[in-house]
Amino acid sequence: MQKNIASYFKSSKKGEDSNDQIKEQQFIEENLKKEKLIAELKVPSSKSKQLNPEVKGAVLFMDMAELYEQVGEIKGQNSKDAIKELVAKLFIRIMKENREEFVPAYLFSILKLGPDYESWELGIGQGIIVKSISAVSGKSEKQVRELMNTLGDLGLAIEKSKSTQTSLNKFFVSQTVKEEVKLTMIQVFNTLQQLQKQEGTGSSLEKERILTNLLRMAKPIEAKYIIRFIEKNLKIGAAEKTMQAALARAFQLYHKGNVEGDYESIINQALCECPNYKKIIDTLFSIQSLKEVPEICHIIPGVPCKPMLAKPMKSIQMIFQRFENMKFTCEYKYDGLRGQIHFENGQVSIFSRNLENMTQTYPDIVTYIHTHYQHLDGFIIDSEIVAYDVANNRILPFQTLTSRAKKNVDQNQIEVQVCLYIFDLLYLNRQSFLKETLEKRRSTLRDTFKEEEGKLKFATSRDSENFEEIEEFLLNSIKMGCEGLMIKTLEVNSQYEPAKRSFNWLKLKKDYLDNGLSDTFDLVPIGACYGTGKRKGFYGSYLLACYNEDMDQYETTCKIGTGFSDENLEKFFQFFQEYLIPHPLSEYKCDGVNMDVWFSPVVVWEIKSADIQISPIYSACSTILQLNNKGVGLRFPRLIKVREDKKPNEATSSQFLYDVYKQQAVVASNNTFEQDDDFY
Ligand code: ATP
Repeated sequence: MQKNIASYFKSSKKGEDSNDQIKEQQFIEENLKKEKLIAELKVPSSKSKQLNPEVKGAVLFMDMAELYEQVGEIKGQNSKDAIKELVAKLFIRIMKENREEFVPAYLFSILKLGPDYESWELGIGQGIIVKSISAVSGKSEKQVRELMNTLGDLGLAIEKSKSTQTSLNKFFVSQTVKEEVKLTMIQVFNTLQQLQKQEGTGSSLEKERILTNLLRMAKPIEAKYIIRFIEKNLKIGAAEKTMQAALARAFQLYHKGNVEGDYESIINQALCECPNYKKIIDTLFSIQSLKEVPEICHIIPGVPCKPMLAKPMKSIQMIFQRFENMKFTCEYKYDGLRGQIHFENGQVSIFSRNLENMTQTYPDIVTYIHTHYQHLDGFIIDSEIVAYDVANNRILPFQTLTSRAKKNVDQNQIEVQVCLYIFDLLYLNRQSFLKETLEKRRSTLRDTFKEEEGKLKFATSRDSENFEEIEEFLLNSIKMGCEGLMIKTLEVNSQYEPAKRSFNWLKLKKDYLDNGLSDTFDLVPIGACYGTGKRKGFYGSYLLACYNEDMDQYETTCKIGTGFSDENLEKFFQFFQEYLIPHPLSEYKCDGVNMDVWFSPVVVWEIKSADIQISPIYSACSTILQLNNKGVGLRFPRLIKVREDKKPNEATSSQFLYDVYKQQAVVASNNTFEQDDDFY
């Protein structure tokens, strides 16, 4: 029988010394409190605590599906804590009884099949899913689509279809599938990996066949979560952040108080330098002390490190205010794509801002590194890849860069040439440089690499504390086709901070110098209204949402109709026809907003706005604000561009929007900063 958390520790610690017993007692008491919290929230108890005797020792996929069902039912205050405890309970059971299956179980729960930098996209569209559901349920494709439209979700559609199958259908299904097949977690995971490997001609049919077989074996609720995994949303109100907290909690329990420390922040830090859950989980299984985690899971060529980001500023005065008495440098802020270039043992890899592997897109950079830097014993540099006009020696706009093909780029046919503007050194000759000052990283970068016009350049920089000089430098950067300046501390507090939007890196964009907010937002269009007059036949305005990472929900924040060229109006209208849905999704927090059409969340737009205000209509930040369901709305929003490098769940978070709202209020009232560096 499944033991409760406390009894695990009572039975496993007999015979140890008294110090350990006191520690253990404290640990048990703390955990009993958490158990009580779950009991009070009336979380349904798991029905399948016993591992399936027929599938020896394996984790049943039904255990996972039931967990997701239970998590989805937890609502209200403290729900995050309760979810964390509940998920941790199943995690620790798997860790103890099926350790080698824990990584797949965890990855499935965060909608991944591997690390982000290893491309593992399933490439399964709605068409294939509908066909598979139709084959499994005996319903026509039209009926499946109708069911999806009524229920608002293909996951629910398969669950319903499977649980209401007619006896005749069931008969046919039982002819092809042995009754009472019990799916295991590893079976589901392996099948998904198999799906991902299908490529080339005939792969769609093969994907459909594999998926249909899997769905046949699945019980209704299992089928629901398989489909939701493929659709990249389990819809249980718990996304990666919550699962990560549950992972930390589960390991804390697993180590029974013998390994002390802040598991959440250790895992978080490790993920910044080494975003590979498998490596981190394997490490956590083997350690005696949490200190070992950063010693094992650290920056290394071949594995992208989460990039350091900058805080937006509105004026040069604000920079002086922030960097008073500190040595700093100003660099051009190039308008291209961030490229983290890795080299080791003859292997070059190029990663994007979001850790995606872009090596295939830039064979010319790979060759350049091979030709000039073979002699180095491994390095990681941070740079901006910028489109370049070789004939006239000038940089080209961002739009030119995006017109370059992404896959199968033939080096001899490249039309859009690029120049690498390098600005940081993270690793060199088997040594991490993250903790070094920028002064040191920059001088080593300049000693190690050599500039070549149109190929590789150091970011143009000026170390100045003179207002007029910086102003002139800013104007020059804009004249040269850059977005503005990056301003960075050189000595004090100047180490490279992976993943952090740090106050030690500031950005001053030309757009910010206009009136308005000091940063743009990356938002997701989720609905639209038909246009009139000149816009007849297209959408005239779109409803935009930010992403609430904690709740896994999209929260509305404005309607936008400005910044669209005629060409874009038509292009976007055509684009969205494929993503129309009959009702807002359950994860859209959009009560009280009426739109003509709704879309699935598929794209991110960069938006500039003049101001943020409390709004009775929009839901963004309402859970943070706690103001009678009021949210915050953007005033006078204007489209800047499509963020091709961001996925919808990487859109501006509700927390970020709230922090900018708060900062705006503070700046307006006293024109000063709060002390806290993590202000936003
Ligand atoms: P943005 O929309 O401004 O690019 P972001 O969220 O992608 O926002 P920020 O931290 O706000 O990233 O701005 C830093 C970005 O500017 C980097 O990700 C990089 O791509 C680009 N960049 C261009 N020149 C530099 C430079 N000299 N130093 C650092 N980053 C630079």
